[in-house]
Amino acid sequence: MLINVATLAQEPIGASRRYYAEHESVSVPDAGFEQVITGPIRLIRSERGILVTASLDLEPVGLVCDRCLEAFEWPVHIEFDEEYVIARDPTTGYRIETDEDDFTVDGSWHLDLSEAVRQYEESALPIQSICRPDCRGLCPTCGQNLNEGTCGCAVGTDHRWNALASLAERLRDGDEEEHDGAPEA
Ligand SMILES: [Zn+2]
Ligand SMILES: [Zn+2]
Repeated sequence: MLINVATLAQEPIGASRRYYAEHESVSVPDAGFEQVITGPIRLIRSERGILVTASLDLEPVGLVCDRCLEAFEWPVHIEFDEEYVIARDPTTGYRIETDEDDFTVDGSWHLDLSEAVRQYEESALPIQSICRPDCRGLCPTCGQNLNEGTCGCAVGTDHRWNALASLAERLRDGDEEEHDGAPEA
């Protein structure tokens, strides 16, 4: 989504505009990123450029659960304040120093929200993808999705301990030829 700030850029510090993005597309082709944003955007003329304050709902992101490996959708809401630096002041012609990390207003007075949305979406995604807090995951022995039913592999046993027990069993089996398979207490 490109916003033209040619007029606002010539106004005094503190001048502002309000927009509402209604299913506007944003994309960062180099990163293979595409999204659709909805929500209010406020622009305020700052000393170095334009301060953007946004509160946006994005399309849900498709993730795969780390526990049960099922696909699920994660709703994303992002809020941010970011200053878009104007590299050359429109009234004085004075060149403003910019860092590589700065968001900037381009030479034709457009401000592009795409990269900011991409970065804030990335930080809004969970570190661990879990489809729901009580996801029971897969049985480590037979692979049954335990959200869909039990498998009878380890009745009355916590599956995480069952996985450890079977690992311990395999390690012991490496040492001894004869083994009854029962985990030791
Ligand atoms: Zn899951
Ligand atoms: Zn099982």
